Amino acid sequence: MSLASHAKKFSAPPTDAQGRIPLIGLSPEELTEVLAVHELPKFRAKQVWHWIYHRGAKDFASMGNLPKDLRAVLTEKYSIERPKVITEQRSSDGTIKWLLAMSDGQQIEAVFIPEAKRGTLCVSSQVGCTLTCKFCHTGTQPLVRNLGPHEILQQVMHARDVLGEWPSKDNANEGRDLTNIVMMGMGEPLYNYANVAKALKICMDEDGLGISKRRITLSTSGVVPQIVQCGEELGVNLAISLHAPTDELRSSIMPINNKYPLKDLLDACLNYPGLSDVRRITFEYVMLKDVNDRDEDARDLVKLLRDIPCKINIIPFNPWPGSGYECSDEARIGAFARILENAGYDAPVRRPRGRDILAACGQLKSASVRLKGRAETDGAEATS
Ligand code: SAH
Ligand code: SF4
Repeated sequence: MSLASHAKKFSAPPTDAQGRIPLIGLSPEELTEVLAVHELPKFRAKQVWHWIYHRGAKDFASMGNLPKDLRAVLTEKYSIERPKVITEQRSSDGTIKWLLAMSDGQQIEAVFIPEAKRGTLCVSSQVGCTLTCKFCHTGTQPLVRNLGPHEILQQVMHARDVLGEWPSKDNANEGRDLTNIVMMGMGEPLYNYANVAKALKICMDEDGLGISKRRITLSTSGVVPQIVQCGEELGVNLAISLHAPTDELRSSIMPINNKYPLKDLLDACLNYPGLSDVRRITFEYVMLKDVNDRDEDARDLVKLLRDIPCKINIIPFNPWPGSGYECSDEARIGAFARILENAGYDAPVRRPRGRDILAACGQLKSASVRLKGRAETDGAEATS
C-alpha cells in the first residue's frame, strides 16, 4: 500500500464526537485560514495560537483577551481539549505512564521518563502498528488507525499539564522537566509521516512548544523511503531499530526487512542529511537470548556499521507474556557491548525504566488490553 493510501485508510477522524474541529496541530497559516471564516482581524489567530501553545489553554473561555461572543463561537465549533486520562501509573523509579483516550475512544499510551539532567516523553504515533516485529507487544495488536497531528501534540501538552510547565518559558529548557521527545511509543512513525511531521514542526517551533530538534528523536523500524525526507524536512535525531546484523536474522524477527533489506536501510542512513561525527545515528539493538546475542553477531555488527557515524544502544529485551523470547543474561549483554566498545563504538546498555508498570519499550498498550479484558470478563463497562 502506498503511503498516501495508507494515510487515507487509517486516518484520524477530522472532528471530535461533538463535530468540533481540533485547532491543535494546525500550522499558523492553517489556523489563520480556518479562523478567517469568522471575519476576524489576523491578530486574533495569533492570540489563539499563543493561548494554545504558550499558555497551555484547554478551553476558549479562559482566553481573556478575546471578545466574549468570539469565545462562545470558538467553543461551539472548535476543540483544544486534551485526551481523556483513563489511567495514570507512577513507577517506583519516577516514570509516569498514561493511558489516554482520544475523542473517538481509541486508546494510546505515553510515558514520561525523568532522568538526572533531562526528562524524556515517549510519544505514540499510531493506535497499534501494522508491522509485526516478533519481540514487540505493540506488534501483536493490529493497526487501528494513525494518530492525527493534534493527537500526537496532545500527548506532549498533556505531559506539560501534569508537570506544571505552562506558560512555556522563553528560555527554552530553563527549569523544565520535560526536555526531550522520543517517537518510540506505539506505532511506526514513518508510516504516519505527514501527521508526525506536522506535529513535530509545532513542537520545534520557537513560538510553538519550543523543543529543539536536537532534543527530538524519531525511531523507525526502517521505512526506507521516508528516512531521507524526514532528515531533510525535520532534521530530528534518527534512531533505527536494527536488532540483527544480517538480512536472514533480521527478516526472521522483523518482517519489514523483506521489503527494505539492510543494504537499502544503511544506504538511507548514510544519506541522512546532517549526518556527522557529532550528529550520529543511533542503532537500537534488543538483546534476545540465543537469537541475536552471540559474539559473532557483535562482530558482524561492527563490520556492518563501519562507514556510518553512529552509536549503538543496547536494549535488554523487556518480556511480555507469550512473547516466546527471553532477555540475554547480564554477562552476555556485557560481553556483547565490550566487543562493540573495543571496536570504537559507543554502546551503552539502556537501563529499563518503568518495568513495574509495564512502561518499557515494546510493552506499550499491553496494560490497556489487559484492563479491557478484565472489564469485559467482570461484566463491567468496557473502557472504549
Ligand atoms: N516503531 C518504531 C518505534 C516504536 S518501538 C520502531 O520500531 O523503531 C521503540 C523501540 O522499542 C524500538 O527500537 C523497538 O524495536 C523496541 N522494542 C520493541 N519491543 C521491545 C521489547 N519487548 N523489549 C525491548 N525493546 C523493544
Ligand atoms: Fe511496530 Fe516498532 Fe513494535 Fe515493530 S518494534 S511492531 S515497528 S512498534
